[in-house]
Amino acid sequence: MNVDLHCHSTASDGALRPGEVVRCAAAQGVELLALTDHDQLSGLDEAREAAHEVGIAFADGVEISVSWRGVTVHVVGLGVDPRHPGLNAGLERVRSGRIERAREMARQLEHAGISGGFEGAMALTDNPAMVSRTHFARYLAQCGRVAGTKEAFRHYLVPGKPGYVPHRWAQLEDALRWVIDAGGQAVLAHPGRYGLSAAAMDSLLGEFSAGGGCAIEVVTGSHSPDQYALFGALAMEHGLAASRGSDFHGPQEGAELGSLPELDRRLSPVWAGWSA
Ligand code: AMP
Ligand code: MN
Ligand code: MN
Ligand code: MN
Repeated sequence: MNVDLHCHSTASDGALRPGEVVRCAAAQGVELLALTDHDQLSGLDEAREAAHEVGIAFADGVEISVSWRGVTVHVVGLGVDPRHPGLNAGLERVRSGRIERAREMARQLEHAGISGGFEGAMALTDNPAMVSRTHFARYLAQCGRVAGTKEAFRHYLVPGKPGYVPHRWAQLEDALRWVIDAGGQAVLAHPGRYGLSAAAMDSLLGEFSAGGGCAIEVVTGSHSPDQYALFGALAMEHGLAASRGSDFHGPQEGAELGSLPELDRRLSPVWAGWSA
């Protein structure tokens, strides 16, 4: 089955409306999709309806921004109840502060000779409260400072480069609790992206499991084929299930929906126990 359990819409930093993401996924052959916007559940109703119309299976999801030992990590919640009060209250807190952060990012870019960053990034949002580094990356590409968003994240917006403003996101144990209390399964997103040592990754996976996390993304648009093998082995070692997700943000902005290889057969898929 073609499963894609990680993607974004205009409810956060994706380029397509929730319904368009679903139609695009169906056209690409995806049979089970989860929409997982950053810290935001507002795209789920439209996406679920579209999934019903086009006849693909759909899971309500979210990708929560977490600060763990000073590193930003992402926790994907799958099968959450979007009306759960605890989850909604938690996410509302995580969402706050993005606009102030964007002003500071724009000030740094101004010092690097790039003007209009705040207005430019805001103009590219559908949901201004969710302004993110992705919108700045698109602005930098739009005004010709970089060839594309990938290049924007090489020269700007990352630690040590202009436009990077650290932020205090949720605590790991809180994010896990919100997902679990809302009836969902917690998945550690793209673990290969955090630049952690083997020892730090071991601690993260230990804390993640102890807090009720049940799976890690093994096949994701952020991993190389070597990392599929590495994180597949770590999932088995830690007794965690495995997930597969493109982390699609828009056409030609990285992996396309449903386009990645299947999980290794030795892994237990996070969706194994789901009913249609
Ligand atoms: P923020 O939540 O504002 O810090 O923005 C994080 C978003 O920026 C991620 O969800 C990705 O969409 C994007 N992003 C971060 N790092 C990279 C990267 N190296 N390449 C491409 N996109 C990135
Ligand atoms: Mn994103
Ligand atoms: Mn992420
Ligand atoms: Mn994502």
